[in-house]
Amino acid sequence: MAKLDQLIEELVTANRILAREGVVDSFGHVSARHPDNPQHYLLSRSRAPDCIEVGDIMEFTLDGTPLDPRGRASYLERFIHGALYEARPDIMSVVHNHSESVIPFGVTGQKIKPIFHMGASIGHEVPVWDSHDHFGDTALLVENMDMGRDLAKRMGAGATALMRGHGATVAGRNVRQAVYISVYLEVNARLQKQAMDMGNVKFLTAGEVDKVAERTGPYGINRAWENWCRRAGRPFQAEQG
Ligand SMILES: [Zn+2]
Repeated sequence: MAKLDQLIEELVTANRILAREGVVDSFGHVSARHPDNPQHYLLSRSRAPDCIEVGDIMEFTLDGTPLDPRGRASYLERFIHGALYEARPDIMSVVHNHSESVIPFGVTGQKIKPIFHMGASIGHEVPVWDSHDHFGDTALLVENMDMGRDLAKRMGAGATALMRGHGATVAGRNVRQAVYISVYLEVNARLQKQAMDMGNVKFLTAGEVDKVAERTGPYGINRAWENWCRRAGRPFQAEQG
């Protein structure tokens, strides 16, 4: 299969997995940088992730302009993706979601930190971007490049950022890694809340986070991916798109 076709299949699978694993519901999206043109990215038309098919995947320039829309509507918040690809040449995939368990951490000042080994991929600490700081009262959606760039700045060099009163954004070196981090960001948030309800929490140390990160390679991520493909009813491709 051609590289582009394979990546489009991978994006469809990523959408279905994120839906199956409870990271996205009717909203939320995942993109990939175009494999032949780093100034473009691939993202579905505006549709619920669990409904997305190959024909829904569109190509955009980094400023969010669709190349060949053919009547297909674009996600209002596509600027999150373009702004991150613009700021971060190292990332090849972006997930944006309204994952439920992370929301309380975006509004209370209580930071999400890795609480178990599978959560180490979220990074040492997850920054919170508050749209109100620079943009005042908005509908909270990232609906232009100025907001997208501000969010990208807050995320910095990390893989994750929460968005106050809204959700989270995750960046990865490829689609599978971005999905992997998104799933475990949600799980970590859920477990952290449970642990905090029980008493004082001993989080992973900075050294432990680094050691787990060193060990989290394609082997572990592909193992999870195969399992998630099965659960989402999608074919497993051993090679990444
Ligand atoms: Zn959103």
